[in-house]
Amino acid sequence: MPNLDDAQIVIIGGGAVGCGVAYSLAAAGKTDVLLLEREPALAAVTSAEAAGLVGQVRSSVERTRLAMWSVETFSELQQHDEANPAWRQVGSLRLALTDERVDEFNRLAAVAEQSGLEVSFLSNDAAQEKWPLLSFDRVKSVLWCPSDGYLQPTDLAMAYRAFAKARGVRFATGTQVERVVVENGRVVGVETNRGAVACSTVVNAAGAHAYHIAQSVGLRLPIVPVRHEYFITVPADGMTPDLPVVRIPDATLYLRAEVNSLLVGGWEPASLSCDPGDFSPDELAPPIEPDWEVLDGFSRQLAPYFPQVRELGIRSVQKGWPTFTPDGRFIVGPSRQVQGFVMAGGCNAHGVSGSAGIGRHVVESMFDAEPSKYVKSLSPDRFTETDWDWETAERQARTLYESYYHVGH
Ligand SMILES: Cc1cc2nc3c(=O)[nH]c(=O)nc-3n(C[C@H](O)[C@H](O)[C@H](O)COP(=O)(O)OP(=O)(O)OC[C@H]3O[C@@H](n4cnc5c(N)ncnc54)[C@H](O)[C@@H]3O)c2cc1C
Repeated sequence: MPNLDDAQIVIIGGGAVGCGVAYSLAAAGKTDVLLLEREPALAAVTSAEAAGLVGQVRSSVERTRLAMWSVETFSELQQHDEANPAWRQVGSLRLALTDERVDEFNRLAAVAEQSGLEVSFLSNDAAQEKWPLLSFDRVKSVLWCPSDGYLQPTDLAMAYRAFAKARGVRFATGTQVERVVVENGRVVGVETNRGAVACSTVVNAAGAHAYHIAQSVGLRLPIVPVRHEYFITVPADGMTPDLPVVRIPDATLYLRAEVNSLLVGGWEPASLSCDPGDFSPDELAPPIEPDWEVLDGFSRQLAPYFPQVRELGIRSVQKGWPTFTPDGRFIVGPSRQVQGFVMAGGCNAHGVSGSAGIGRHVVESMFDAEPSKYVKSLSPDRFTETDWDWETAERQARTLYESYYHVGH
């Protein structure tokens, strides 16, 4: 067990985001860092459920660059034997089925170009060569991003850990933060089930429990857990792990190969959220049963492009509560209200793919004399210094989830 007496910085939560912050701090030379995770293993909660898709094509330059930074990090980590995230840079195909979507792809390609991200339009025949099992008959445009891909989130967390640990960052699993101790408006430590830890900075990366950790220091934040799920079929002929990731936003679907099976997920038209105020900080978020109606909806929506999906049995269903915010933006950076309290949450279902970029922004928000306008715009102060009500925030977060693949999202 590492030294748990004190640290300059304590990270609460060892999911993809907490581990990404640990990596980013270590990469910036900040190594008097202790990450506390209450589960026996890292990345055991929401991150373990993620599909691991890593997409860089976004509607703003800032979000594109954040995702590009993650990809750069994954490629760098891939070079380390001891910290290999099993990054599969297979590329991605984004399919347009409507004229409105074709226009959107043109706008996305312009944002990509401005951001320095390589994308191109493929003919349907060229796309067919990359994904022989899909029918491209109704497809009006194909946007190809060669540097996209996917990875297994737990492998990524292990890679972050190996990198950070080799530079002196400490990791303690099975260690639950029970209270953040604040004196005279500043963080002075945390109390855990293994005793007190003195620290001057806490990074709140507690996923669906980030709401509770913030509330424990008097900060109310609209961190809304919204259900998300996907299924994996039995092995299917022709499926291989090197197939590109596919997104069909007009059918609200994404798919990729999972070894030699098919993984299919999507954005539900009528989403389900929960209020973290309804479960205690000591409990897991409510259990989720697979919603077969929703999952069958994904399968039916995919059938015109991949008819075999109706015949393939479903081998497993992954599901969890990624957190969304009412404005669809991350909550990242120090609070003005409580000195030494830093947020890293509200990931809007980008917590795995965005983890290295989020970690980098956390470091910038903490140590740069003048963080960028974008990083400043992610501050928790935008919620703690304005009036908002939970009901509206939850509704807005759900709307953002439901419109995830809408044109212009
Ligand atoms: C079905 C599904 C598919 C998804 N697909 C993708 C995808 O393809 N790409 C993508 O980028 N994202 C995806 N996501 C979203 C992604 O999973 C989340 O954005 C990401 O996992 C959030 O990471 P996190 O570290 O914030 O949260 P978590 O992984 O939940 O980690 C938070 C950690 O904090 C710990 N914790 C909580 N309270 C305490 C405490 N008091 N003391 C100590 N530790 C504490 C928890 O035990 C937990 O391990 C998907 C999500 C789901 C559910």
